Amino acid sequence: MPTHGLILRKEKDDFSDIVKGITNAEVLYKTFKLFSSSYSKAFIETDMRAMYNPMRMKVIEKATFKLLDKINTVCPECSTPGFGITDSKKGLPCNVCNFPTRSVSSHIFSCKKCSYLKEEKYPNGKFFEDPMHCDVCNP
Ligand SMILES: [Zn+2]
Ligand SMILES: [Zn+2]
Repeated sequence: MPTHGLILRKEKDDFSDIVKGITNAEVLYKTFKLFSSSYSKAFIETDMRAMYNPMRMKVIEKATFKLLDKINTVCPECSTPGFGITDSKKGLPCNVCNFPTRSVSSHIFSCKKCSYLKEEKYPNGKFFEDPMHCDVCNP
């Protein structure tokens, strides 16, 4: 039987370290922890083939939300709760000229206890900013 499930890798466009076919929350969480401790980041993607199995999709979806919930509130290093956004970086590139705008390009999560840092890029799911917010295109 072919395995379906979530794909985890270092970055969206980095295929050097990739784990496929994650179908349960425990494996997902373990893999995520591994990635976040090695690279301090991870990229989760749904294996499109799992679309053909709605039941499984639901289970994975649930696991993912649970996981994200956990990751957002507990430090991946020392498991101290309250791991949250403490800073943000600006410089989301303009859609037209690529100039870094004043829009948020990443959120910084940090732990108050062990000062572990995690950067979450493109928190709003946006990779480029509209030129209307660009100082070059629209001063
Ligand atoms: Zn910590
Ligand atoms: Zn621009």
